[in-house]
Amino acid sequence: MSTQRVVTFHYTLTNTTGETLDSSRGHEPMSYLEGMGQIIPGLESKMTFLKKGDKTTIQVLAADAYGPKIQELLARVPRAEFPVPTVKVGDRFRTGEAHEHGPVFVVLEVTDKEVVLDGNHPLAGQDLTFDVEITDMRLATAEELSHGHAHGPNGHHH
Ligand code: ZN
Repeated sequence: MSTQRVVTFHYTLTNTTGETLDSSRGHEPMSYLEGMGQIIPGLESKMTFLKKGDKTTIQVLAADAYGPKIQELLARVPRAEFPVPTVKVGDRFRTGEAHEHGPVFVVLEVTDKEVVLDGNHPLAGQDLTFDVEITDMRLATAEELSHGHAHGPNGHHH
């Protein structure tokens, strides 16, 4: 029998300067099925040791979060070859239409000659701090295990 669990938790994410980047507070808590890579590895590896009701602060280095910034994901495309006629700073494009989870490129700069794009995750290169509260922790159901994700009020809805 599997011992994979479904973990439900609230989190507040801050960066090294203490700025809040994201939080589940005021929304439904988040749920994930253990072992499926549904949350960043540095967070999941530490949450494994928590139990329902625990509140703690977890530091995750960039390498165990969204990874380092990768220079190769900065792309310069000649303006004439850019497939979209109107483009401005801050626009987002997903590459590889077949891949729902392909990298998203954000436009950093537009000149007459070229478009500069960054395909790094916005949190790449950043050390992160998560204040977490485990609101529920239970064994996954057979159905959840076969689907590969958590079900229920805070999980996946079909
Ligand atoms: Zn499902």
